[in-house]
Amino acid sequence: MVEPNKIIGLAWGPGFQSTGSPIEVSISGHGLRLATQDEHDGMPAWSKISVRQGGFNDSQMMVEWHGRAGNYTLTVSDIPSIAALKVHLKTATQNNENLKSAGARRGDRATFIWSHAFIWGIFVLPILVLATILWEHERLTAWAISHVTVKQERKLGEQIFALTKRQLTLIEGPGANMVREIGARLTQGSAYHYEFYVANDASVNAFAMPGGFIVMNTGLLALADNAEQVAGVLAHEIQHVEKRHTLNGMVKSAGLMATISLVFGDLNGAAALGSDLIRLKFSRQHEADADADGLKALVVSGISPTGMRDFFQKMSEKETLDLGWFSSHPASNDRFTSLDAAIKALLPTAVVVKPLPYDYAAIKAVLPVHFKPDGKI
Ligand SMILES: [Zn+2]
Repeated sequence: MVEPNKIIGLAWGPGFQSTGSPIEVSISGHGLRLATQDEHDGMPAWSKISVRQGGFNDSQMMVEWHGRAGNYTLTVSDIPSIAALKVHLKTATQNNENLKSAGARRGDRATFIWSHAFIWGIFVLPILVLATILWEHERLTAWAISHVTVKQERKLGEQIFALTKRQLTLIEGPGANMVREIGARLTQGSAYHYEFYVANDASVNAFAMPGGFIVMNTGLLALADNAEQVAGVLAHEIQHVEKRHTLNGMVKSAGLMATISLVFGDLNGAAALGSDLIRLKFSRQHEADADADGLKALVVSGISPTGMRDFFQKMSEKETLDLGWFSSHPASNDRFTSLDAAIKALLPTAVVVKPLPYDYAAIKAVLPVHFKPDGKI
């Protein structure tokens, strides 16, 4: 249980982990006080704090301020903490309003009340009603997903894959064999039974389906310089399955009826709505989690994690091209920087490891599609 004047969240900024540090924050009339940050940067006043909604489906509160050492962000995701924060925000805003409206109160009080009633009726109330509906849907989705077993998810994935496969040209060969071998190495001991495929498609793309179906395009294989870079993308996609980001995103975009049919076992209805999975976008938090945990999985599997970082750099350099994986995975400098920092924090023995045993140039040479810098085949 969180005390009303205490909230928990993840903090980013100078002095915190690049993947965000879990932190307890006290809230008061003055502002915030972070449990571990220094006096100047860890005690921002309300006047210096901006708060907005963010994260997947705007389910989080993003609290931002500028300290001496730089910019800080605190994301608050759990319901009691969000509620506590909202109560304090309301008080802080009211205090501010009281100061500002001291003059207005002496004016025409009736006009003042009516204009406020108008603004509330026309703008604020409908938004509040909508927000409540979405909030309930969010909770229902989370509840629904927690009731889906791995076996059910696999069944759902099978159906989605069967639908998606019709739009893909799957190929075999040394590239597909390599993807399968690296994939098997990265998923040892997982509760999911993975299947890896290569699709003959020049766009630089890879995507995961619920239950462990992962497809990588030849365009991505052609852009990569070595097997370690391919492993980096696979490690990231695998985490979207392991953390159920794909299932989560699909259920949310499919809507309430599909969510209910999923829970009550009517998988056909849910699968039909999940065929647009290729364009599914994840939240920044999910992307950051997939990067961080993908990196760990590479290290555990004895694969150099530098390939993951280097592929992100490659992607950001190709920003002008139409890159599928890029559009669903913003390859911002932040992500590169986070990965680079995470790699620098590792022991050298985790980074400098035996290279993967593939002649990558030979694998690329026999790919049916060759990526050209102008993005056309
Ligand atoms: Zn991703």
